[in-house]
Amino acid sequence: MSTEASLFPIHFFDSEIFCKKCAQIRKFKIFSQEKYDKTYGKSEIPPNSPLFCRCEECSDAAIYATNEFAQLQEEPTLGLCKIWGMSNLEAGDMVFHPVEKLCAVDGVNRISGSLPQITLINQNKEKIEIQLDVQTFGEQNADAFYRLFPQNSKDARIGDQIYHIKTGLTGKVVGLEFNGGQTVIIKFENGDVEKYYCEYPIYYLTDDVLELNAKWRCRDLPYSQNLQIYSRSKVLHVNCLAPNFNVVCELNKIISSIPQIRCFIMRIILEKSNISPIEIYKELIRNGIYICCCDVELKNQDVYITGFYSVKDTPKNIYRVLQKFPVKKVDLNIRMHSDIKTIKTINESDCFIKISKMGKNVHIDGWVKSEKEKRKAKLKAFFCSFSLRIENHLWVIS
Ligand SMILES: [Zn+2]
Repeated sequence: MSTEASLFPIHFFDSEIFCKKCAQIRKFKIFSQEKYDKTYGKSEIPPNSPLFCRCEECSDAAIYATNEFAQLQEEPTLGLCKIWGMSNLEAGDMVFHPVEKLCAVDGVNRISGSLPQITLINQNKEKIEIQLDVQTFGEQNADAFYRLFPQNSKDARIGDQIYHIKTGLTGKVVGLEFNGGQTVIIKFENGDVEKYYCEYPIYYLTDDVLELNAKWRCRDLPYSQNLQIYSRSKVLHVNCLAPNFNVVCELNKIISSIPQIRCFIMRIILEKSNISPIEIYKELIRNGIYICCCDVELKNQDVYITGFYSVKDTPKNIYRVLQKFPVKKVDLNIRMHSDIKTIKTINESDCFIKISKMGKNVHIDGWVKSEKEKRKAKLKAFFCSFSLRIENHLWVIS
């Protein structure tokens, strides 16, 4: 496995994409760095996040960003239009008419026994009434939206249905290329696969310019001599030997602010990494951050924290406290719970015990030195609360 592939551990979905090496459309496996739920909550999939896409046939890989797939968008038809005579029209739709060009549908008057009378508003705000003369589309096409080509090609995403206004052919976007300029690869309904070069309305920044810009923005950072930055197809690759989480956050902020990059891939090597989850947990307690039913895990220098909190700024404070630690990522799966009541806190040099009530259950969080003390704490919790629903999350550290 290449080092790049190892940064994308999660198989996200499969897609038909044009493979440059095979020179034809292939099935690709798509991998992500974070776990996303594709069928639910698309608004939670951030744009401009890198996806590692590998051809099933030749293993050649390409990087695409999350916003470059139509199927990952919350509203995939936003900005697209229907084509006159090819799909059902409703008031409010945008429609491309062969003579009137791009229009908005103002009204649809359905007269029984004949085809509907459509009122359109063209780009000059003129109202036009036209009788729909053909209605050849099938059921599956009734709600089809298209991206117009070539005028609307620049923002094309993989999976977009397209309509070529000169040839009248429909097709589907199967690939994007960003070398020196932007190219869209389309598979047409007649089977042809064609590449279209997009005219850019603004100055198109090349890899060299993006690279220079990124290096310039990082030039004064104290660790800039440990930084390696290069751009491939408008994807910035950043390799860094970093001392702590603070540097990771700082670099993320700088790199993501660079205009016109599609996404970036960060490869961080930490200078030293001999920390344990309990050290992180203790640091949170020292800073007055209390999480009920808390668990802290460390995997490949990524921190995972789960539990419940009642103080509003807790997530922000966790990020702040962990800045000095040698970690690459802080993954918080903590939820606000307004009904957490502290029953008793014991804060001594060799232990920290917090007994609290959340809903109907009593939780014991903190750390002790032995299994015996852990059992004793449960007894203590019982006498404080007279509850039998006690969950003991104490860490035993020797
Ligand atoms: Zn291939």
